[in-house]
Amino acid sequence: MSEVAHNINQIRQRIRSAAERGGRRPEDITLVAVSKTIEPERLEAALGAGQTLFGESRVQEAKAKIPLVSGRAHWHMIGHLQTNKVRDAVALFEVIHSVESVKLASELNKWAEHAGKTQVILLEVNVSGEGSKFGLKPEDLESTLTEINKLPRLEVQGLMTIAPVAEEVEKARPYFRRLRELRDAFNLRELSMGMTHDFEVAIEEGATLVRIGAAIFGERKRHEPEE
Ligand SMILES: *Cc1c(COP(=O)(O)O)cnc(C)c1O
Repeated sequence: MSEVAHNINQIRQRIRSAAERGGRRPEDITLVAVSKTIEPERLEAALGAGQTLFGESRVQEAKAKIPLVSGRAHWHMIGHLQTNKVRDAVALFEVIHSVESVKLASELNKWAEHAGKTQVILLEVNVSGEGSKFGLKPEDLESTLTEINKLPRLEVQGLMTIAPVAEEVEKARPYFRRLRELRDAFNLRELSMGMTHDFEVAIEEGATLVRIGAAIFGERKRHEPEE
């Protein structure tokens, strides 16, 4: 068995265990394998292990990669999205996790209309308030959602967050809990939260989508700054 396949099996087991601890059904948690910077060989290994859903954080990179496994995988956009990449993003991704403004949503709506598509999106919320993070302030969520819900080609299915990285993974729990409370308050379904270092806590707190890269594909080289 390839190392990637081995890692995926281990992650599935850890997802099941975390679901049990949280009193949840494992099938209510979807694994998004984060394949940014990962070359096609390792994507093939993941596909061979039955993993068909991948997350990318750069439109340019995804545009080159997706055709290489065409028709066999599903793709989510998890990274910060620039307005000038929206057209491609609508063409490439089933779900966009990182919508954080009415302006970006309007642009997505325009290109979704153009493509004759309903674009599923999540709203990214900066629950920790860290200045370095993208995302809506929790207090702006209600008004933003009201505006975005007027856009006919978008379907808001839930919320996404990135918790602050801390040595002690329990420190992430209050942020995940806060996102779940917001999700419940606005009657949404999906909660995209949890990465390699904190996904088990996120699942205990209600994550429905976990975005995991390093634990599947190994440590990756850093992205160059986007041009
Ligand atoms: C890279 C990335 C991930 C995956 O992170 P790992 O630590 O490799 O699991 C998840 N979410 C977002 C938004 C990312 O950019």
